Amino acid sequence: MKNNYNLEVQGIILKKTIYGDTSLILEILCKEVGKISVLARGIRKGKSKFSGLFESGNRVELLLSKKNSSDFYYFKNGTLINAYLFSLGYPRNLLLYAALEICHQLLISEDEAENIYSLLLTYFEYLQKQAENEIAIFWRFLLRLFIVTGIELNLRRCTFCHLDSSNMVAYYSLRHGFICEKCFQNHLDEFVINFSFQTAGIIHILPEIGNHLKNLSISSKTAREVTKILLLHLSEQFHKKFYCKSIDYYFENLYHKIKLK
Ligand SMILES: [Zn+2]
Repeated sequence: MKNNYNLEVQGIILKKTIYGDTSLILEILCKEVGKISVLARGIRKGKSKFSGLFESGNRVELLLSKKNSSDFYYFKNGTLINAYLFSLGYPRNLLLYAALEICHQLLISEDEAENIYSLLLTYFEYLQKQAENEIAIFWRFLLRLFIVTGIELNLRRCTFCHLDSSNMVAYYSLRHGFICEKCFQNHLDEFVINFSFQTAGIIHILPEIGNHLKNLSISSKTAREVTKILLLHLSEQFHKKFYCKSIDYYFENLYHKIKLK
């Protein structure tokens, strides 16, 4: 068996870290081999023809090499298929970063890689098209991610009485689901996170929120509540805290200034 081999992959740049004086370490989600670390040596030296290739969110085609003895891949050559980050502009590029941050922290099996890769691309394309209520595109991305990773969130069935309800009033983190108005009275404890009436309405239409984006008015409070619940669901299901600095930044610095209602 050879010690070294080459492979061609298609991937999305999740994270780029400066390494040494001239190199980069990239975390890339590849359609073919899952999430990998790639060392791109000498890439920051002078005017490299690859200097724009490794922006976060870029979809790239790469020729890599790998030693059997190492987990690292080495960059040999590559071309850009799509760049999304700069075409989006504020605040949507923060939402692009948010999805990348989540995928960076998520344990992605090789089986899931292709689905999550497609999910990210679909998400980026929706972000490009949608200039209002863009936070809802992020919510839809999370809902789809839940399905792909096997932690689907049932938005309409109460986690206590198991009946369908259009009146959810709280999220119950211990049972990874929602609580209807009737059950809520009897189950008040510290793990119950209740939300506003408007948030309940948004959660109810979340599965087909794409059809409502043009005539929705989402308050800052509801945007925060829905985002918090979805990220909490992710953290609770995978038993680890997911950090999403881009989302914090989105709400702290942009959302409430631009769109406070
Ligand atoms: Zn119930």
